[in-house]
Amino acid sequence: MTTTLTYRHLFGPGPSNCYPEAISALGNPVLGHLDPLFLEIMDSACQGLRQVWGTTNSRTLPLSGTGSAGMEAAFVNAVGPGDVAVVAVNGMFGARMCEVARRTGAQVVRVEHPWGTPIDPERVAAAHPSPKVIAAVHAETSTGVLSDIAALGQLKGDALLIADAVTSIGGLELYADKWGIDVGYAGTQKCLGVPPGLSPFTISDAAFELRIKDPQSWYLDLGLLGGYVGSASGSRRTYHHTAPVTMIASLEAGVNRVLQEGLGTVQARHVAAGLALQDGLEEMGLDLFAAAGSRLPSLTTVKVPDGVDSAAVRAYLLERFNIEIGAGVGEFASSVWRIGMMGPNANPASVTLVLGALKEALA
Ligand code: PLP
Repeated sequence: MTTTLTYRHLFGPGPSNCYPEAISALGNPVLGHLDPLFLEIMDSACQGLRQVWGTTNSRTLPLSGTGSAGMEAAFVNAVGPGDVAVVAVNGMFGARMCEVARRTGAQVVRVEHPWGTPIDPERVAAAHPSPKVIAAVHAETSTGVLSDIAALGQLKGDALLIADAVTSIGGLELYADKWGIDVGYAGTQKCLGVPPGLSPFTISDAAFELRIKDPQSWYLDLGLLGGYVGSASGSRRTYHHTAPVTMIASLEAGVNRVLQEGLGTVQARHVAAGLALQDGLEEMGLDLFAAAGSRLPSLTTVKVPDGVDSAAVRAYLLERFNIEIGAGVGEFASSVWRIGMMGPNANPASVTLVLGALKEALA
């Protein structure tokens, strides 16, 4: 029996609701993954991704897999046994980077920061004299904190900079080339407003030249993936694995939707929605979790008031209003809520809806 679905307002940490263009594309005919029409779609998706990444990197592509596949690809291609990887940790995803890096055999230098605060670029850059890579999360979804990747790029020296842009791409300012990001990975299911399943990925020529040859992952070996992307007009597309054609068509439609609205306009919409939500929560007497000055517009963290059952409120919102918000992470699992305003949800109506529903749930 097929499960009957209900529309949910996805105001959690992701996935978010999707742009209608991205959803419509899921209903298009399935194409062969070497079909010239599909190559056009792939080309267009890669070109759109270059724009949302702020890069001219030729190796910019949607990896088959979610954001974690992008994280894995970044590390297995950049570091191997004995290489030093400095990793800034200010939440769960920085911690996950350490684990992924450790499994490559790299020597991981973990630079801890209190959860809820941004990374300190100077401390991170000074953590080791000659790392092969320095890695940090731009938008830490577990805590709702934005970190200054541009500052880290200025201090990285000869190291390669790996940046996680899962919760910033397509919604917040992101300039891979200008900020000195050598390897970047992201997700489709947040500000890009596309279903989960792909990881927008970019790597500079310099980082590609320094890559690990024969990395431990065959599937995510960037040396093998060049032919996979191919080009409708130029280089021949060759088989590496069967491209998830429908998801790539959805991504192409979603990214082009964002570019049509205008990247600056979309970013401004995310900032406005985040600020309105944060102001509204404070007006309700709630305290925000992330440090002032470093709060993500796309994902707001708010403290659960004393005596309130966090899970019961989330269940109430889901049952009564079809609204999903997220719990906190780790030691903040039941003391923090995470509320996302991403993709098409970054608008005043969503803010008003979630504030009103939360007010009723807390009354
Ligand atoms: N990095 C960050 C900052 C994330 O928010 C997430 C997912 O929420 C990931 C990595 C992992 O992405 P995925 O869950 O799509 O594998």
